[in-house]
Amino acid sequence: MDYDVIIIGGGPAGLTAAIYASRARLKTFLVESFSTPGQAVITDSIENYPGFPDGINGFELVERFKKQAGKFGTEFTAGNIGSVKTYKGKEYPGWAVETADKNYTSLSLIIASGTSPRKLGIPGEKELAGRGVSYCATCDGALYKDKEVAVIGGGDTAIEEAIFLTRFVKRVILVHRRERLRATKILQERAFSNKKMEFVWDSQLIGINGKDKVNSVKLKNKKTGEEKEIACDGVFMFIGYTPNTDFVKGLVRLDDKGYIITDGNMKTSSPGIFACGDCRQKLLRQVVTACGNGATAGFSAQAYVEELKGIAYK
Ligand code: NAP
Repeated sequence: MDYDVIIIGGGPAGLTAAIYASRARLKTFLVESFSTPGQAVITDSIENYPGFPDGINGFELVERFKKQAGKFGTEFTAGNIGSVKTYKGKEYPGWAVETADKNYTSLSLIIASGTSPRKLGIPGEKELAGRGVSYCATCDGALYKDKEVAVIGGGDTAIEEAIFLTRFVKRVILVHRRERLRATKILQERAFSNKKMEFVWDSQLIGINGKDKVNSVKLKNKKTGEEKEIACDGVFMFIGYTPNTDFVKGLVRLDDKGYIITDGNMKTSSPGIFACGDCRQKLLRQVVTACGNGATAGFSAQAYVEELKGIAYK
């Protein structure tokens, strides 16, 4: 076997698992996605991670986690996962992880693959992606200086990102399908007191218009059925996330939305595979809970590997 544990995902959950696994002296390898940045990395300011009363930039926090995991011996590569299969090693059973350029084998696996932005699948969304349709305010916000943008969604992400966009834009039109927000109250207070924000309630985005770039959005009022167009230069979509778990379908139990089902020790239905962070079924998806899950997954992987090798401390 190449490694004791391979961790798939380089966000807060995967990196915390790496810190714990490396400190337990497991030979630890972490594969981070080549193409999909994690949610924490693209967050401008994380202000509910304990220890940073003034908030900390998500990229900086994740870089710190990475440095810490590297310090204890974690090896890293970037690559998209092709498949995960069972692997019969000479001494012990394990797993083979296929990336674009190479296969790696390990005794155990920790899945920390996170989530990706959900898409609406409405006319104009795909056609105008990257030309006014965006899923990341931190990445694209500065392109909309003094412009008008629509933000779709009413959860923490939509509100946090909408407030971030007000640093650049002239006006944010927040479109939500209900008449109240889902977001945490402190974010709601900030949004309602922000003079650059306007709200369109009970409305569903049904189309995005523009030839080479976005010039308006089409909305439908869910109560009255009335349709209207609002002129804007960009549309930021924050309507939730879907788990990045396709590559473990059939290998571990998933819920009906595709989230990995684990017990409290982060064990999946498949012995030797653990899962942590946003890709698992749970109540609260936050950096702090991802880190907690990651620590537990690292510890559980250590117990599994040492038991397999007959060196467990009992
Ligand atoms: P979310 O909590 O699932 O909210 C998604 C929002 O999009 C909801 O308001 C939902 O409407 C709306 N929506 C969903 N499907 C839609 C559709 N087809 N058309 C129109 N609107 C639709 O997702 P999130 O805001 O991305 O947050 C994900 C997780 O990360 C949450 O656990 C959240 O607490 C966490 N998070 C935390 C922070 C923070 O602590 N600062 C920041 C970001 C994210 P309904 O309300 O009607 O369902």
